[in-house]
Amino acid sequence: MVIKSRWTAPIPRCSLQQWIFESSRSPLPDKKQFLDADDPENNYITLSEYRLLSKRVALGLIEAGLKPGDRVLVFSGNNIYFPSVFLGILMAGGIFTGANPTFVPRELAYQLDNSQATFMITAAAALDTALEAAQQVGLPRSSVFIFDKPSEVRSAKPGPGVNGRKNGARHWTELLAGDPGRAESWDWVEPADPANTTCCLNYSSGTTGVPKGVEVSHYSYVANGAQVVALRNLDPQGRGVHEGSRLLCFLPLYHAYGQTYFIANFARMQLPVYVMPSFDFERMLRHVQTYRITSLAAVPPIVVALAKHPLARKYDLSSLEAIGSGAAPLMREVAQEVEKMLWPAGETVIHQGWGMTEVTCTCMAWDPTQPAAKTGSSAVGELLPNCAARIVEVGTGTDPETNPAVEIREPRRPGELWVTGPTLMRGYWRNPKATAETVVVDAADGTRWLRTGDVAFVEQYRPGTLFHIVDRLKELIKVKGNQVAPAELEGVLLDRRDVADAAVVGVTIKGEEVPRAYVVRAAGSRVSEQEIAQWFAGRVARYKQLRGGVKFVEAIPKNPSGKILRKILRDQAQKEVGDR
Ligand code: AMP
Repeated sequence: MVIKSRWTAPIPRCSLQQWIFESSRSPLPDKKQFLDADDPENNYITLSEYRLLSKRVALGLIEAGLKPGDRVLVFSGNNIYFPSVFLGILMAGGIFTGANPTFVPRELAYQLDNSQATFMITAAAALDTALEAAQQVGLPRSSVFIFDKPSEVRSAKPGPGVNGRKNGARHWTELLAGDPGRAESWDWVEPADPANTTCCLNYSSGTTGVPKGVEVSHYSYVANGAQVVALRNLDPQGRGVHEGSRLLCFLPLYHAYGQTYFIANFARMQLPVYVMPSFDFERMLRHVQTYRITSLAAVPPIVVALAKHPLARKYDLSSLEAIGSGAAPLMREVAQEVEKMLWPAGETVIHQGWGMTEVTCTCMAWDPTQPAAKTGSSAVGELLPNCAARIVEVGTGTDPETNPAVEIREPRRPGELWVTGPTLMRGYWRNPKATAETVVVDAADGTRWLRTGDVAFVEQYRPGTLFHIVDRLKELIKVKGNQVAPAELEGVLLDRRDVADAAVVGVTIKGEEVPRAYVVRAAGSRVSEQEIAQWFAGRVARYKQLRGGVKFVEAIPKNPSGKILRKILRDQAQKEVGDR
C-alpha cells in the first residue's frame, strides 16, 4: 500500500543557483553568509559575494575549457569558498563531484576515472595525493587547480594566480582572473530541462557493490530544498531554524548532507553559516558557545560525544535550540542524555531524519509544529512533501514477473522501505545495470521506486505516519556517517596473492559501526592481521581501516549462486566482538 506525504510543496523548474539566489543580477542583501569559524571578523563572504564569486569561478572554468556536462572533481575539506566552487561548476553548466578529502591516491583515482572528470580542484595540503591520482588516470597537471587558504583568496586581485604554478598545477585564483565587472553582468548557464540535467555526482555504493556516481538533477536538488523550506515555513519561528538562527557547518561539503543544508538551503534562507574546516569536538563546543549557535546538523557520533564527553559540560551550550541527526541510527539513551543536559525542562528536540544519497539527501523529517515526542526512538519522522513510500516484504520485488513486490499492510511490521518522489536520482552514472537493480519502474503508472535496502515500519497506514528505521539489508557499512562499501575493501584484500577469499561486514563496537574482515588464506600462506593492516594503511582512507579486526577462516559462507551470506557473517561478527 502506498503511503503518501500529507503535504505538497511547489517545486520550481529551475537550476539550483536560480533557486538559491532567485536572480543572477538583482541586488542581494549585504548579509554575511559564510564565516570562517576560526576568524569570522576577517574571513567571511556576504550573500552577494557568494553569488559573484561563484559566477567568477564559472567564467574561469569556461575560459579554461569546461563544456556543459563536464565533471569537475573537488578534493578538499571545508572552507568558506567551497560553496562558490560548487555553485561555480553548476553555473558553468558543469557537474560537481566531491571526494572525501582523506582519500589516498587509489581511491581518488577511482573517482576521477569513474566520473571522467576533466578538472580537479584540490586542497593545497592534498596536492601530492591529487597529482599522483591524476597521473594514474592521465589527467594533465594543468587541469589540476590548488584550492588554497581562504585568507589569500579574499585579498586576491584579478590577475594571475597568487601562488603561480606548483608542480605543474595551477592556483585556483587563476579561475578568478577575469574582470569581476563582467561576472556581475553575466547570466549563468540555466538548464533548459532541469529535471534531466545532472548537477552532481555524489558517490554511494547503494545497496550493493562499489561506490557509484549518483546522478542528481538540478530539479531534484531544488525539490529537496523546497521540501525542507516548506516544512520550516509551517512554523517560521520554530526551534533551531528561524530568522535569528546561526548555524555551524562541520559536516563535509563534499557530501549531500553538507551540500543541501549549508550550500543551498541555509543560503536560500539567508541564515549565517560558520564554517569549520573539519570536525573537531572541542572546537565545535567552543564555536557553539562563542557564536551562540542555535541548531546543529549532526551525525550520531557527535550526539554520542555530547552525551559522554566531559568537555561537553564545560561549555555554555544554552543557545542550542535543536539538534538534527541523520546518516546512521541514533541510540535512544544517547539522545535522551543529551536532552537532559541541554534542555532540563523536558523538551524533546533531537530529531532523527532519514535520507539517502539516491534521493538527493533528506527524505523524512519532523513537523516543526508538533513536539518530537518520540525522540530517541528509531522514529525518523514522516515523509517530506511530494514523497511516497511502501513497505515491501524482504526479498520480494526483484522481478515483476517472477518475484513481484509483496506489500506489507500491517502497522509496525517491518519490511524493506521503498520510496519515490521528485528527489529520486536520475540513475547511477553510466551504470544502467546498477540503476535497474535499484530503481523499480511500476509498469502500471510508470512511478520509479527506489529500493532503499533499509528495513522500516510505519506506525499507521495513513499520510503523516511516522516511519521507523530498524535494520539495514544492504551491504553498506556506515563509519561516523561515512559510507564504506564492503565490496571495495574485499577488492583490496583480494588484490593480495596470499588471500584466497574475503568478506567484510560491519560490526558495532562501543556504539560505533566499523568494518571487520573474514579472510581465507591462500594455500601455504601465513599472512597475519598486522600484515593486512599494513596493506590497508596505504590503500584506503583512515575511516575505512579494519578497526573491527580480521578473522582468518576456512571458508566464507555463501549461497549456491556464490553470494556472500552477509547476515550470517554480521551476526557472527557481532557475537565475536561482543561489547568490546
Ligand atoms: P548516505 O547515502 O550516505 O546518506 O547513506 C544512506 C543510508 O544511511 C541509509 O540508507 C541508511 O542505511 C542510513 N541512514 C541514514 N539516516 C538514518 C537514520 N536516521 N537511521 C538509520 N539509518 C540511517
